[in-house]
Amino acid sequence: MGDDKERCTLAIIFTRKLLMENRKPIIIIGAGMAGITTAVEIAEVGHEVILIEKESYLGGNVIKMNNYFPKLCPPACGLEINFRRIKNNHRIKYYTNTVVEKVVGEKGDFTASLRTSSQFVKDSCTACGKCIDVCPVERPDEFNQNLSNTKAIYLPHDMAFPAKFTIDENYCKKEKCNACVDVCDYNAIDFSIKENVFTINAASIIVATGWENYDASLIDNLHYSNFSNVVTNVEFERMLAPGGPGKGKVERISDKKIPKEIAFVQCAGSRDENHLPYCSAVCCSASLKHALNMQELYPDTIIKIFYIDLRVSGRNEDFLNKVKNNKNIELIKGKVGAISEEENGDLIVEAEDILSGKKVKHKAELVVLATGIVPTSPEFSLNKNESGFILNNQLEGIHPIACSKKPMDVSASVKDATAAALKAIQI
Ligand SMILES: Cc1cc2nc3c(=O)[nH]c(=O)nc-3n(C[C@H](O)[C@H](O)[C@H](O)COP(=O)(O)OP(=O)(O)OC[C@H]3O[C@@H](n4cnc5c(N)ncnc54)[C@H](O)[C@@H]3O)c2cc1C
Repeated sequence: MGDDKERCTLAIIFTRKLLMENRKPIIIIGAGMAGITTAVEIAEVGHEVILIEKESYLGGNVIKMNNYFPKLCPPACGLEINFRRIKNNHRIKYYTNTVVEKVVGEKGDFTASLRTSSQFVKDSCTACGKCIDVCPVERPDEFNQNLSNTKAIYLPHDMAFPAKFTIDENYCKKEKCNACVDVCDYNAIDFSIKENVFTINAASIIVATGWENYDASLIDNLHYSNFSNVVTNVEFERMLAPGGPGKGKVERISDKKIPKEIAFVQCAGSRDENHLPYCSAVCCSASLKHALNMQELYPDTIIKIFYIDLRVSGRNEDFLNKVKNNKNIELIKGKVGAISEEENGDLIVEAEDILSGKKVKHKAELVVLATGIVPTSPEFSLNKNESGFILNNQLEGIHPIACSKKPMDVSASVKDATAAALKAIQI
């Protein structure tokens, strides 16, 4: 009797092992908060995961934030633990600088064609930084929204995972310079490395390509392209960040002055048939967060927030109450019609105050546009709605999640990611 039970248990273990070994991996495209969450959850129940990221680091838009609501934690909180889970889980393989160009097949048997751009820095890089000292070329730092520069060889940011330098091919002089190759003690730089094109067989595919900021230069009356002290909310997030262009000091662009008066313009392009017809769901909470962040750093700052409706829910209502109770922050219900610039770089914001029925003009030393979010999608074709968000209705076995599907905050993205993990493992 005892022998039978033991034999039965061994048979189950053996069958399960065989099934696991023969099971195809699950591909996740996009390593933001949503993609990373799905990856660790799938891997931790025993499935192989291939995580694909187009940038040279994981973490998506959240890693670029100064802090994130509702708790106002720095991005390290939440992401660092996930990076550790990825590092320690042999079932997760990740490819940076990589995109999925084509997918053929069906649920349980997809073939994905991938392209990894030439990464001249090998994994033996220890991020010692000697190469930075000798690199003669600078380039705009896209991690800081191009508000500062890095060398052509650079660590993408302080928390970069993988913690490895990367080279901007558009600026690096490669073999014509070779200064970084000569100084590297670990032979980690090799300009002969070519791009890699390869295929992966997968059981299912999760699309977590997230969002990018709406192009503010398309909103003519707000003069983002013309006035240097008009910035977007994503730029302001970096201006507030300790690793940002001002290294913790919020400096306006034209003269590096710390702005004493700031205007936030809500729905910059959002809920507007000429731009984005939808609500981006996070901009109201983001601007309330930014106003409170600024107040914490510089308590005397005078802040005006121009809004159409304030759409906050759950724990973010606490922000709204804090803002309402702050004597230096004023909420003005009215859409901004025009912004003009004075000779010293200060700005005049014009709006109609709906509640008083009066036209108002306010001076600001910096204007922050709450520009909406636009979906990002993979390189192969998927069904999308008229605004470009990826629809649930795809070939069976392909699951879009989080902000690639509709605007949502981190907490909702993580819930969506967990739900997708459950769907993807049911093969
Ligand atoms: C100004 C602003 C402030 C915000 N502040 C907060 C906040 O405080 N709290 C909060 O909860 N939410 C906040 N949000 C919302 C938050 O940013 C999103 O909820 C979150 O980023 C969603 O994560 P995600 O993984 O879906 O997308 P993303 O963070 O956008 O990650 C997507 C990933 O996919 C990669 N990718 C894109 N295309 C491809 C491709 N073709 N191939 C491979 N990889 C690709 C990207 O490089 C990126 O790494 C804010 C949003 C804005 C605009």
